[in-house]
Amino acid sequence: MDTLTLKIIFMVGFVAAWAIRTPYQKQHQQTKHLVPQERILFMLIYVGMVVSPLIYVFSPLLSFADYRSPVWAGYVGGIVFAIALWLLWRSHDDLGKNWSPTVEIKEGHTLVSNGVYQQIRHPMYTAFWLWSAAQALILPNWIAGLGGILSFGMTYFLRIQQEEQMMIEQFGAEYKAYMQRTKRLIPYLF
Ligand code: SAH
Repeated sequence: MDTLTLKIIFMVGFVAAWAIRTPYQKQHQQTKHLVPQERILFMLIYVGMVVSPLIYVFSPLLSFADYRSPVWAGYVGGIVFAIALWLLWRSHDDLGKNWSPTVEIKEGHTLVSNGVYQQIRHPMYTAFWLWSAAQALILPNWIAGLGGILSFGMTYFLRIQQEEQMMIEQFGAEYKAYMQRTKRLIPYLF
């Protein structure tokens, strides 16, 4: 697949992801003061998943890190991105007002265990993993391609335990029972 087609596939997915997320981001009122670690991780994600892919798509600045990818990578990447978008939309919709970009309990927070939360506890993070994988498959560039997996991956591993611990403290036995019957990221598997 030629580079222009790959860039177009990526940009369609990228714009769609932002279109899905923006209304929820607007609704959310940030009341929590971000700690330095959270600020740094947000910045890393911004560089890895927004700035570096856009530099790659719209300028030749990162061309020194280009490589050739097999044709199937573009097709598979497109399919993975489509699944990520569906899951991103469903998880934002199911989580509703409980959503926040950081790990926090909001006023009137309820435990969501229906919809895509019925099988897995972190469908939004699954969506971000898929988005990052799609970025790596679609963009044949070591920096712009791997920026998502590296920056989101680091954020995921640093916050997942903290988030589940917070949910246990808030919802107690109800969350523990929910943990018993669900997996973290992939239904029935993991
Ligand atoms: N980890 C979830 C949610 C990401 S948004 C996912 O990947 O789908 C982060 C916020 O969602 C956290 O601050 C937490 O308060 C909230 N949250 C996580 N799981 C939740 C659940 N099952 N029900 C309600 N809120 C949840």
